[in-house]
Amino acid sequence: MKNILSQYNEVKSTIPDGVKLVAVSKFHSADKIQIVYDGGQRIFGESRVQELCEKVHILPDDIQWHFIGHLQTNKVKFIIPFVSLIHGVDSFHLLREINKESAKVGRVTNCLLQMHVAQEETKFGFSTTELQEMLRSEEFSTLKNVSIRGLMGMASNTDNMQQVREEFRLLKQLFDQTKAQFFGDEFCELSMGMSHDYPIAIEEGSTMVRIGTSIFGEREY
Ligand SMILES: *Cc1c(COP(=O)(O)O)cnc(C)c1O
Repeated sequence: MKNILSQYNEVKSTIPDGVKLVAVSKFHSADKIQIVYDGGQRIFGESRVQELCEKVHILPDDIQWHFIGHLQTNKVKFIIPFVSLIHGVDSFHLLREINKESAKVGRVTNCLLQMHVAQEETKFGFSTTELQEMLRSEEFSTLKNVSIRGLMGMASNTDNMQQVREEFRLLKQLFDQTKAQFFGDEFCELSMGMSHDYPIAIEEGSTMVRIGTSIFGEREY
């Protein structure tokens, strides 16, 4: 357990000011999260709704919980009352649902739109065309209970670090273009980079890195 604190401090020392660290605590116990919390961390990322809802009750109130995984529309309502940012909004359908459930409880939910830039077929996210279509649509402008704060993406899971870098670079370009075309200053977060590739993501303009394994160790599924 002591190990976790030193790993956390080590990771933190590599992250420049201006880049936010999301400590990805999925599959890790509340005890371990508490250690990292006591070390000063306040933003934690989870990817399963039930697990997140259980942890919220037993951990300190001032944690900012980010939802980072694929979110099913039928589970949106469970996290809306407390979630501080949803990273993986990967369809118009899901965004509508988040808007609807947020309206019900009188909240405006912060969201990042997930872009598909990796080679793998399996990664979720918008294509550039889909993104443009949604942002141009009249319906999009009527969604008052979501605030789009930026983009999120994942690079291919490959040892080819040049490819990873190019994918992050593409995400940064998409971020800049989308901001200029559709948004203002509120559109300020580019969530990219995980344990194995975050230094590259930071070099390419990430404002938010999502790091699990390098802090907590391997997950036990
Ligand atoms: C699990 C997960 C992470 C963290 O991955 P590590 O390799 O453990 O750092 C980051 N982003 C998303 C979307 C994840 O699901």
